[in-house]
Amino acid sequence: MAAFEQGGGYLPLCRGAQIINRARDVNLPIAGAIAHGEQQGWQMVPLVWAGAVPSAPVTADCYAALTEEIVQGLRDAGPLDGVFLDLHGAMVADGAPDGEGTLLARVRQAVGPDVPVVAALDLHGNISAQMMDSADLMVGFRTYPHVDMALTGHRAAQHLDRLMGGAPNAKRSASWIS
Ligand SMILES: [Zn+2]
Repeated sequence: MAAFEQGGGYLPLCRGAQIINRARDVNLPIAGAIAHGEQQGWQMVPLVWAGAVPSAPVTADCYAALTEEIVQGLRDAGPLDGVFLDLHGAMVADGAPDGEGTLLARVRQAVGPDVPVVAALDLHGNISAQMMDSADLMVGFRTYPHVDMALTGHRAAQHLDRLMGGAPNAKRSASWIS
């Protein structure tokens, strides 16, 4: 948990409106998604941001605490039009070898079958059947080094708009699409 709190090369652990303030104009998928959401007038309900430099499996306690916070946050948010997740895709936790798959399954369970769930992923993610079954759509980085992180989040957010039933102003952000 200390590694997530510190953040390493990522943003430090943060919650709510703090995520929007800290993620603005950084090259991470969450930043591209927020930029798109603000362009489109999304009423965003940011829950929790947690990223850590890869090192060892996430401890069971840490994994449980962060996933529970996400799932409870989704429940507390009330009816949602869609869910955007900025994930890596290769997280391994003690007791949850498919970290993102287990998380996505819990997210799906929390919001039900009809709410679109879209995730941005690192291109080094391991795509599991559980991830495929749980998410509507996943968008990975296309470049190494990962210079297109914000772009990937933006692209994922545009797909989320489409799945939510239309993006009336999508053309305004078309320059983000590679
Ligand atoms: Zn990578």
